[in-house]
Amino acid sequence: MASMPSIKSREIKIVQEMPISKTLKFWESLKEGKVYATKCRKCGRLYFPPSADCSECLCSDMDWVELSSEAEIETFTHIVFRPTSFCEYKPYTVAIGKLKEGVRVLAWLTGFKLSQIKVGMKVKLVAKISQEGNPTYEFVPL
Ligand SMILES: [Zn+2]
Repeated sequence: MASMPSIKSREIKIVQEMPISKTLKFWESLKEGKVYATKCRKCGRLYFPPSADCSECLCSDMDWVELSSEAEIETFTHIVFRPTSFCEYKPYTVAIGKLKEGVRVLAWLTGFKLSQIKVGMKVKLVAKISQEGNPTYEFVPL
């Protein structure tokens, strides 16, 4: 197969600035080890990641509620071929867990061997500080 002559471009790093003003409490709470969701005061719907507006009843009257951290794994995937932005990490597992409160959370699942991970198993959702120093959250063994 003939390949086009080419040169490699410099590696480009994109850093996204996320507007966090309306969800600042969420990020601040993660630093304190707490995971918060928002709950609509009108219809009671729970949002995770927190949303400042309810897409159900279009209301912006939201309460902050701390999540219990009790979760059950609904599905998971083991990532061996990492996206460029994660290439400095070892292969990792991402899971969707359903919390006691009913919301689904997509997060890394750590502290398990791949062979130990099963759909339906109970895990804990914890707040942590990422390698880059950003507040984040992940699932860990109970
Ligand atoms: Zn609502």
